[in-house]
Amino acid sequence: SELPEHLRRTIQRRDEVLGPGYTLIYREPVEFVAGHGAHLTDRDGNDYLDAYNNVPCVGHAHPHVAEAVARQVAVVNTNTRYVQEALVEYAERLLSTFPEELSKLSIACSGSEANDLAVRVARFHTGGEGIIVTRWAYHGITREVASFSPTLGAGSPLGPNVRLIDAPDPRLVAPGSTLAEHMRQQVRGAIDDLERHGYRLAALITDCAHSSDGIFTDPPGYMRAVVEEVHTAGGVYIADEVQSGFARLGESMWGFSRHGVVPDIVTMGKPMGNGLPISGVVFRPEVCEEFGRNVRYFNTFGGSSIPVAAGAAVLDVFEKENVQQRVLENGNVLRAGLREITKNSPYVAEVRGAGLYVGVEIVKDRETLEPDRALTEDVINDMRDRRILISGTGTSANTLKIRPPLAFDSADVTRFLDTFAEVAKNRL
Ligand code: PMP
Repeated sequence: SELPEHLRRTIQRRDEVLGPGYTLIYREPVEFVAGHGAHLTDRDGNDYLDAYNNVPCVGHAHPHVAEAVARQVAVVNTNTRYVQEALVEYAERLLSTFPEELSKLSIACSGSEANDLAVRVARFHTGGEGIIVTRWAYHGITREVASFSPTLGAGSPLGPNVRLIDAPDPRLVAPGSTLAEHMRQQVRGAIDDLERHGYRLAALITDCAHSSDGIFTDPPGYMRAVVEEVHTAGGVYIADEVQSGFARLGESMWGFSRHGVVPDIVTMGKPMGNGLPISGVVFRPEVCEEFGRNVRYFNTFGGSSIPVAAGAAVLDVFEKENVQQRVLENGNVLRAGLREITKNSPYVAEVRGAGLYVGVEIVKDRETLEPDRALTEDVINDMRDRRILISGTGTSANTLKIRPPLAFDSADVTRFLDTFAEVAKNRL
């Protein structure tokens, strides 16, 4: 259909002034002017259900966060060169959500910066350079982090010190084996190959939701064997919780907890400030010592008063609104509903995920699992035309990525499922 004139002109002006890389989502792009909960409003006053944005975790324009940030902006913004009681208090509160071994926090502004710092710290601690990530991982945009983010395209090559392993897709496991054994062997093979090329292992870094690989969260537990292998080789395990953290996966605050492991380093970002740029790196104290002795690290905006006020307000809401429990319950209903709707579809290979992170894999054939990217795009755009926002992910971009703000409530789940059933009737 025709784009509204105003929107068409804004897009044209956008193309004239913005630098490279600013791609728009949906065949018919959309502009939002307001939001609340998991809802967004366009210029004409239409209500959309946001089932995609993980940043406004406690909801768009949450009044408690808005008030805390507005107050701080109007009072003072100082940085970590000064004593800030609010920063200390925030660090204590955030760290109390982790196992006690993880007891040091650094604050930065983006997930990329957090991963960049994590890997630099890992190199100092281990004396190694080797990095292992999953085959279609994304960890961020700095040059360092891009060198171990295989999704970034031919112009962004992987480092010679980087090795790729399978994502934890249980369907890759040989008969008679287990996912734990499969992943352990993958990691062992990567470590051996690194060593053959003169690289000692610095770190295995994994997104605990494996978002860009296509959303693989289950079964919990297989990471124990993997982390053991990493430690045996003298490396550290970095859990990238930029996607999976802050209760996204429902059962706990942090994705790694589902595996019964304690990482050496944890990174987090996106939902941490409900939209204010704040990210974090949590360490075992012994792991960050060597870096601390040798490198000056000061991050101007990282840990300054305004983003910290946002971070603290988010934690307030988590406590007051019992966010984690709601994610668990609504996520279970959402996945069960999607399974029911698609159970007889010849084009849906799997509904998977945990909490409010759901993937629906779309294929040409359930036997061969041949990906159907075009059909996936049709479904995403049909949902958008019915004013529900989702997107796609995975190696072949054929997995629907359903990842609403955690404020998604049971009425939102019902609206989502009703609409999805209509789209599925035509397409799936
Ligand atoms: N790690 C993961 C798993 C991510 O999904 C992202 C962002 N999509 C990043 C790191 C980078 O975060 P940022 O965009 O805040 O730099």
